[in-house]
Amino acid sequence: AYKPLPKTETLGKRRKHFGENVKLSYSDPAMFLRGWKHHLFDEWGRPHLDAYNNVPHVGHAHPRIQAIAADQLMRMNSNTRYLHPAQTDFADTVLAKMPDPLSVCFFVNSGTEANELALRLAAAHSGGKDIVTANHGYHGNTTGAIAISAYKFNAKGGVGQADWVQLVDVADDFAGPFRRDDPDCADKYAAQIDEAIAAVTARGSKVSGWISEVFPSVGGQIIPPQGYLPQVYAKIRAAGGVCIADEVQTGLGRLGDYYFAFEQQGVTPDIVVLGKPIGNGHPIGVVVTTPEIAASFAKGPEYFSTFGGSTLSCRIGAEVLKIVDDEGLQDNARQRGKELLDGLRKLQEKHAVIGDVRGMGLFVGVDLVTDRETRAPATEIADRVINRMKESRILIGSEGAHHNVLKIRPPLTIEADDINRILHQLDRIFRETACQP
Ligand code: PMP
Repeated sequence: AYKPLPKTETLGKRRKHFGENVKLSYSDPAMFLRGWKHHLFDEWGRPHLDAYNNVPHVGHAHPRIQAIAADQLMRMNSNTRYLHPAQTDFADTVLAKMPDPLSVCFFVNSGTEANELALRLAAAHSGGKDIVTANHGYHGNTTGAIAISAYKFNAKGGVGQADWVQLVDVADDFAGPFRRDDPDCADKYAAQIDEAIAAVTARGSKVSGWISEVFPSVGGQIIPPQGYLPQVYAKIRAAGGVCIADEVQTGLGRLGDYYFAFEQQGVTPDIVVLGKPIGNGHPIGVVVTTPEIAASFAKGPEYFSTFGGSTLSCRIGAEVLKIVDDEGLQDNARQRGKELLDGLRKLQEKHAVIGDVRGMGLFVGVDLVTDRETRAPATEIADRVINRMKESRILIGSEGAHHNVLKIRPPLTIEADDINRILHQLDRIFRETACQP
């Protein structure tokens, strides 16, 4: 049987053998040895409510995922150079959720890799090189993905902005330069795309495309104003670029009312990037595009990934999507998300530190401020709240340029009682002197 090391020894070994910037969460790091649905159990078997992790989309340790993985591992596991019906079944299952003309899939191993491939597809189709993207975005950890991730390249010690990347403001209508009380807010953010395209032209280059997390998550759980992305997409396409939607955080029913965030904005992307939840913990990324873009890419060399689209990955990926439907998890996300957002808005009436409550379904952000007028970020308070929540055995996180936005993003299996527990504990913690502005 698997016998884990005690926590202190594990921590000691980790400090010795892991790079320092491979970070642990919480001032007292957590060690979990078991999971079940939206619960994680520590080394003592104590349950923690997982209100943070979006990877276990259909719940930790789902029996159907265990069964399908075991079944396929006992049969065989190979790559896309041989035919296997599991591969076409996975493609069918993904494409059933996509609007026309998105009908070609590429299977990879992570969100990062999917975004890298999306960049190649865009360049192959547009003939351009330059990417326009929003500030504070995150798309992955490789050289190319970091270059389009302002959250990382602009961070302390980051590599800085590449000359082929143009940044616009993230369409944050709470703390950004244009706000929800301005009826032209969406237009003003979208107008920045014109300047970005002009800057590309001025340097004698051509636009390859636009990429964004459709609802920016690491930027602070932001829902762009209605009408924003249609304008962005129109401007990018007019400049000859393609539009990439990174749905790694927002896709697959998490939003409740929508299966994908791009539906809420009323756009159809040219390329959609999926990751994290689609494998429920098994590493899978998917890039979905149009036949025309796939044809442009096919003019280049063979595309091959050893593990991307493996038989095992395809069976797991298809099963995850089927479980979302079979268990009604999108609907659960809608209902539990509404309870959570309603409850948080009630807390906002009581606690001055809550500047904004925003989200959709189980994609939720609570923007903490030290002053409601200036909207100054309450970074230290957010850190304290997260650690106090963990002491109460509830896992949440923080996001945003100033790490002041509480991020609540549980597996889609979360239940009404759990939502009440989150609200109750947050209410208690916000009453503590150290958690007040
Ligand atoms: N895109 C988004 C929006 C993400 O949140 C992440 C991961 N946090 C990635 C891409 C990269 O995915 P991965 O870490 O699986 O490579």
